[in-house]
Amino acid sequence: MPVDDTPAELLTALRGGVRASSLVMDADVMAAHSVDRATSVVPGRPLALVRAHDTEEVQAVLRVASRLGVPVVPRGLGTGLSGGSTAIDGCIVLSTERLRSLSIDAAAMVATVGPGIRNVELKDAAAAQGLWYPPDPSSFEICSIGGNLATNAGGLCCVKYGVTTDYVLGIEVVLADGRAVRLGGRTIKDVAGYDLKRLFVGSEGTLGVITEALLRLRPPPPPASTVVATFSSLVDAGRAVTRVVAEVRPAALELMDRAAMTAVEQVKPMGLDLDAAALLLARTDAGGNEADRIATACEGEGATYVARTDDVDEGELLMGARRMAIPCVERLGTVLIEDVGVPVPRIPELLAGVEVIAVQHRTAVPVIGHAGDGNFHPLVTFDATDSEATARAAAAFDAIMELALDLGGTVTGEHGIGVLKARHLVSQLGEDVMDLTRRVKRALDPDGILNPGKWV
Ligand SMILES: Cc1cc2nc3c(=O)[nH]c(=O)nc-3n(C[C@H](O)[C@H](O)[C@H](O)COP(=O)(O)OP(=O)(O)OC[C@H]3O[C@@H](n4cnc5c(N)ncnc54)[C@H](O)[C@@H]3O)c2cc1C
Repeated sequence: MPVDDTPAELLTALRGGVRASSLVMDADVMAAHSVDRATSVVPGRPLALVRAHDTEEVQAVLRVASRLGVPVVPRGLGTGLSGGSTAIDGCIVLSTERLRSLSIDAAAMVATVGPGIRNVELKDAAAAQGLWYPPDPSSFEICSIGGNLATNAGGLCCVKYGVTTDYVLGIEVVLADGRAVRLGGRTIKDVAGYDLKRLFVGSEGTLGVITEALLRLRPPPPPASTVVATFSSLVDAGRAVTRVVAEVRPAALELMDRAAMTAVEQVKPMGLDLDAAALLLARTDAGGNEADRIATACEGEGATYVARTDDVDEGELLMGARRMAIPCVERLGTVLIEDVGVPVPRIPELLAGVEVIAVQHRTAVPVIGHAGDGNFHPLVTFDATDSEATARAAAAFDAIMELALDLGGTVTGEHGIGVLKARHLVSQLGEDVMDLTRRVKRALDPDGILNPGKWV
């Protein structure tokens, strides 16, 4: 169904700058491109959707938007969990999903990637050349590299191998006024000028639109062993995490509590022990006796069961169960997804506090997390048709972020601020840093057209 309230001047200007096949005015298609996976965030109604084919079209859209003062909401594949790519009323949604160039310079171990390439496609292309792109958000099969860059995505192997920004050598970014600039380059070392590329990585589409990236690749890691440990208390599992991380460098260290395991078992029965309060999954590719040291550390913190496998497929199956946890819990109700991070020694306090908050607010809060990073996703789950339950869930959501801040942590470790955590950013950063943040924003986007109404 076409929309009819888009101003003629805007339509004419867009038609002058982009191919007919890039401009979408169908209301249903626009609606589908107006939301991400933060289902509690109510989207606004865009005036137009542009699915740009190249950098020139992105530039054209931003020139038009700047001239006419129309907001632009950049968008990848809409798997974000914070509402970052949610449309606002009267905006142009600018999708980079069709910018899909991909080439690999194996000798330099560098990939040149369009933002529309999915994370898994880059991994596969690198693997075909005997190389590895490590950042591995659980959504790696469905999210785009553009979204990964704009949120500085993390994932499972980050505890050993780092997050997206650690692999960014350079980017091409289109500024609010339509100029395209290249930041960084192909060299491993480069200290020429400010490291501006890092300003854009994690900026959630508020400073510019990323149209290409030069990403560093690595040789693949050695085959991994996986250690599975169950615990009769969530806090014991948290203590085991602190002990493991103090002693070894796991390549992944993931946690699921009983409620999360139950949600996964309901969708894909795999024999997870639902009598256990929590499950830890540790991966090690260091060889030697690291798997045994992880097992011993878990036993030392009261694990009720510990096993290890050197079978890579079996280990991947277990990690797959962990990756499924968010969609499985989403089947139980509306979910406000936390993304709190705390310093590793404070993990047991965070987990104990989340349990208390769930009881106090009479709200289900299954917990999963990239435990080795101190990054947890308490999944505040509720019935959105029940206004009282919704209010309790909102209070629990706030309380968990306040707890993380009290423990010296962050309100978001990897999903970004988006809309969901906007109110909490100032509590973490303070007024002076917020002022600095707004001044950076004004310097790069003086008319405030890029992703307004989010957090800056
Ligand atoms: C089941 C599930 C599991 C997940 N697990 C993880 C995880 O383990 N780790 C993790 O970090 N995230 C995870 N996520 C969240 C999400 O997949 C990531 O945030 C991902 O990076 C978003 O990519 P996207 O292409 O979907 O971007 P979108 O959701 O479309 O956009 C995300 C943000 O990036 C901006 N943006 C997108 N493309 C561009 C561009 N080209 N230029 C400028 N700004 C842009 C948008 O404006 C928005 O602010 C998970 C999501 C799901 C659904």
